[in-house]
Amino acid sequence: MQPRDATPNGVSDEPGPRTVETIATAVKTLEGGGFPVRRPFPTAACAAVDPFLLLDHLGPVSWGPGEAIGAPDHPHRGFETVTYLLAGQMRHKDSQGHQGNLGPGDVQWMTAGAGVVHSELPAAKFQRTGGVMHGLQIWVNLPARAKMIPPRYQEIPAAQIPQAATPDGRVTVRVIAGEALDRSAVIDTHTPIIYLHYTLQPGGRAVQAIPRDHNALVYVIAGSVVLGPEATAVHEGQMAMLGSGDTIDLATAANANGATDLIVLAGVPLREPVARYGPFVMNTEAEIQQAIRDYRQGRMGRIQT
Ligand code: MN
Repeated sequence: MQPRDATPNGVSDEPGPRTVETIATAVKTLEGGGFPVRRPFPTAACAAVDPFLLLDHLGPVSWGPGEAIGAPDHPHRGFETVTYLLAGQMRHKDSQGHQGNLGPGDVQWMTAGAGVVHSELPAAKFQRTGGVMHGLQIWVNLPARAKMIPPRYQEIPAAQIPQAATPDGRVTVRVIAGEALDRSAVIDTHTPIIYLHYTLQPGGRAVQAIPRDHNALVYVIAGSVVLGPEATAVHEGQMAMLGSGDTIDLATAANANGATDLIVLAGVPLREPVARYGPFVMNTEAEIQQAIRDYRQGRMGRIQT
């Protein structure tokens, strides 16, 4: 007989639903030129959830005409930024000559790699009229071997993001990365990543498979969800870090007051040293100093106007 604790690294080999280990409430802060975000990490309590470096929930914020704020020209190196808009219109431009608009449901998966300078601003028409801006940005770390690869964009319009629903129609999921309800994402990732947007109507239930070697979290955009075998309630603006297991059990109360929106994020941890300075995330302090020099000397380019 093998003793149960003989599995490598002390990782449980037990199948079954993951329990909630900790719940963190997002910290409210200002980002870019001064737009409001809720940020479950990085915070003083949680630096990162390997391989994820940041999760920002932008808004929802209602801007008047001419008021909307974005993020003017700034660099990135060594990781990926993933922007998922829920409401509003953004325009982005970068030092590679790339530009485009993002609207509700669209996803931009930007691999900064060796470096880009970009801007993320409200689209001109949105800026004139004002309106509600709402979205998510996550930062996905790149493994050491991929930090200096050429920049790449994957821009997926809302209509091309795979969607699925449970047979009772109470749960829908948009598959940004990974797989859910037998649908596979169209976006490629450098290491295994799962990024799902679930919408649960009252009384909705779903079981999401998550491989045992992934770190996993749930962040609630709106409403409340009941997670795992201990039926832990998690509310808007809260992140639940999950323990070991091979599924996430999601449910909403039958008498819930409206729909719940949440994201599931999971990935295989890189387990590499992280050296981080603002928009640069490398493995060593020397690589950070190099990134700062390269940016100052214009080697990440500049945005042509
Ligand atoms: Mn950026």
